[in-house]
Amino acid sequence: MKNNTEHLTAEEMIKFVSFKGLNEETKELASKVNSHILNCDVCLEKVRAFQMVSEAIQNLDANEIFSKECVDLECVLEKCAQQEEEENKEDN
Ligand SMILES: [Zn+2]
Repeated sequence: MKNNTEHLTAEEMIKFVSFKGLNEETKELASKVNSHILNCDVCLEKVRAFQMVSEAIQNLDANEIFSKECVDLECVLEKCAQQEEEENKEDN
């Protein structure tokens, strides 16, 4: 079910933090994400977390941070999806 009050998906957030260059799709996504996180602290925090991970991966200097556990965007995506599922269960 899609509606205006639905939270951003992990996929959307990852696309938002990792896209390079503007095109019609990323412009639409960016305006959707930006307008949502203005009013939603939950998603703002998640987008920030994704941004940190994304930047850390891009600056490979930050590799040390991730050396303990293998953390990459896919792991984060998975965790976030699980968290979303749990949150949805709690809502019901
Ligand atoms: Zn939200």
